[in-house]
Amino acid sequence: MGPVMLLLVSPRLISHLVALNIGINQRAGLRSVFGDIPIYAIIRAQPHQSPHPLSYKALMAYHFPINQERLAYYFITLCEIDSPGKMEGDLARYLQDFFDVFPGVTTLVDGSAAITGSNTGNLLVSIPGTDIHKAPLFFNCHMDVINPCIGVKVSRHNNIFTSLGDTVLGGDDKAGIAILMEMAQVLFENKLPHAPLEFLFTTAEEIGLLGAKAFNPALLQAPMGFALDSTGIDNVIIGAPAAVHVQAEIFGKASHAGLNPGDGINAISLAAKVVVNLPVGRLDNLSTANIGLIAGGTATNIVPDYVNLQGEIRSHSAELLYTHMQSFTTVFADIVRSSPEMSRPSFSLEFPDHYPAMALQLDDPLLAVTRKAADILGRTLNYTVAGGGSDANIFNSFGLSTAILGIGMEHVHSTHELIALDSMIRTLELVAAISTS
Ligand SMILES: [Zn+2]
Repeated sequence: MGPVMLLLVSPRLISHLVALNIGINQRAGLRSVFGDIPIYAIIRAQPHQSPHPLSYKALMAYHFPINQERLAYYFITLCEIDSPGKMEGDLARYLQDFFDVFPGVTTLVDGSAAITGSNTGNLLVSIPGTDIHKAPLFFNCHMDVINPCIGVKVSRHNNIFTSLGDTVLGGDDKAGIAILMEMAQVLFENKLPHAPLEFLFTTAEEIGLLGAKAFNPALLQAPMGFALDSTGIDNVIIGAPAAVHVQAEIFGKASHAGLNPGDGINAISLAAKVVVNLPVGRLDNLSTANIGLIAGGTATNIVPDYVNLQGEIRSHSAELLYTHMQSFTTVFADIVRSSPEMSRPSFSLEFPDHYPAMALQLDDPLLAVTRKAADILGRTLNYTVAGGGSDANIFNSFGLSTAILGIGMEHVHSTHELIALDSMIRTLELVAAISTS
């Protein structure tokens, strides 16, 4: 997923978000029962400390001993395994080998490669629960990295990770994967009680959410989960827009530009009129549109007979999305209608589905999980909506409630991408609290 862009949202959604924060503050008051002692305190320590007792009383002094150096090692190792879209095979094998050694853990590479064209399927890691009272949860990260991403070398300075500057870092989304690896290690080493957990590592997210779209949700036991795939810290993204592609073709008529220009129908001139009249940019407080690609013409002396236009429309509202699609169609139709009958062009206009909207309800059991974890950690989480789609849109469309967690990555989709080790640790604390509380 790319940078998070906060949108102006409807008053109704704002009131919901406000209500949610009030709810969190009210619940935080529960801690006063125990004075100022947090029920659950996470410390950072070296591994191989003695396992902690599991009684409720002991939870008041509960430790989650993250090994920071091991986390950093996992992260650097993952970043330096090449995994561009549809070429995630080496990374999938590395992760499968890693998780296969844990007792009771099963790994599965699904059959999605035949659909996506990747050199691997999605990887599903299933970790049996050690507390029958905890509901199953899944965590999702994508394995692919946006270009340029071949030959990444990680630079570490003051515990800030960057690439050497000629590639992206790949913290999007390998920081999330490293966090899950370290969490699994700590859970097993310390025999901590936790929910049944499933880690779903997908392919080709950055190039169209292909792995998620080809995933069979029946393979998951958990009915809800989290995608670790956004910027910011302590951010919980509960809404994201739907999007459609815009694929348009304008058909004119070719002729020699010097000998008989009047016989031609100039598709580039028509495309210019279309683009000028299309509503693009921010269309309303829930919708955006863009024309991002244009191609056409064959030579300077030929009246061009063909132009291809491509773009997208996004909206948090299905109704508005449909309205804007109609507006696009009207612009094309008007251009054709206004052309002289003898030189009338034709066009094709399609809106292939890109991804559906996601909008978690505030009473969704998934958000009760995040509120509980926030209470335990004494944190205030920020519930926001995103401007872009990700695998979570697809999982929500499968009926799997999925929120997206910010993991601290910054300047993603650029060669200036960075992430701080502290951000990964803070995210790991939240994910661990979610998994064990
Ligand atoms: Zn991402």
